[in-house]
Amino acid sequence: MFRAILVEKSESGQSVRVAEVEESALPAGDVLVRVERSTVNYKDALAITGKAPVIRKFPMVPGIDGAGEVVESSHASFRPGDRVLVNGFGVGEAHWGCLAGRARLDGNWLLPIPKAFTPAQAMAIGTAGYTAMLCVMALERHGVAPGKGDVLVTGAAGGVGSVAIALLARLGHRVVASTGRAAEAPYLTALGAAEVIDRATLSTPGKPLQKERWAGVVDSVGSHTLANACAATRYGGTVAACGLAGGMDLPASVAPFILRGVTLAGVDSVMAPMALRREAWERLARDLDPVRLAAMTREIPLAEAIPASADLLAGKVRGRVVVDTTR
Ligand code: NDP
Repeated sequence: MFRAILVEKSESGQSVRVAEVEESALPAGDVLVRVERSTVNYKDALAITGKAPVIRKFPMVPGIDGAGEVVESSHASFRPGDRVLVNGFGVGEAHWGCLAGRARLDGNWLLPIPKAFTPAQAMAIGTAGYTAMLCVMALERHGVAPGKGDVLVTGAAGGVGSVAIALLARLGHRVVASTGRAAEAPYLTALGAAEVIDRATLSTPGKPLQKERWAGVVDSVGSHTLANACAATRYGGTVAACGLAGGMDLPASVAPFILRGVTLAGVDSVMAPMALRREAWERLARDLDPVRLAAMTREIPLAEAIPASADLLAGKVRGRVVVDTTR
């Protein structure tokens, strides 16, 4: 038996609880993992609260991220005792996830935890942080280098935003953080933001072309924020779009793309190929300051993942939440 967050659905709707689950109930997979830490990402919060149809079959153990130790494996790359992590691949959506003491997973989804990180640090990064790294790598691929101009990070006090700021600042970029929480300005500055702006300046409809300001953008908000970010990106600049915290629409014009050669780079973490994941995790081990990672992270026991999910969607969570699945 192990403890798990279990999301069930009945005629009266979706419900969630901490349940005792038999190991035999786990889905098929060639690696059994003793999960030590998981996280609460935006998508986990949607799954747990039922605010969006993230879960594709019920009952479901949520938790798109996990880190822990291999208990059993028939996969050629993993042996009992190996320290592994998983991000995405439908885990916690279509396949039972990691907000649990055990997970049985497909070995092709697993990566060794980089030596630089404990399971708790790997989950402090989690999908949010690994996605922030993918965004930074997308900017770099398109020539956004330190010294080329300001880089805007939207949703700044959230998980993706916090890690993106720490990474970009460490790499030598001048980072401008957009937040709706003015009180978090000292936190954002401590992570490395050179300037903090009010997200209200980006969240209402704006002109299709605006004063050129950003050399690059990491956007986790979408909607008008993304449209305005594109409209104020400098000639040849790049906007990495990964999120929809402000909306899934994109009320933009083609003007920035066809008149300024702006690139809109889409970033997906869920089905990202293994080679890209390996590169992202190697880069995180090199470029993310562990002190700043600790400053943006709070750890909670398993049962608290349920109220933390509601808090996250209410915009009350700062940075990253690690879940200790052993408590
Ligand atoms: P968080 O909830 O931690 O952060 C989101 C932040 O967005 C909030 O903290 C808030 O920042 C800002 N925000 C929230 N609501 C609004 C709003 N209505 N208008 C403007 N800003 C808003 O989530 P994550 O950082 O984990 O994820 C951010 C987004 O990225 C989500 O949409 C998520 O689904 C997406 N994502 C996508 C991935 C991919 O593979 N493409 C992977 C990971 C995440 P502040 O308070 O500073 O304003």
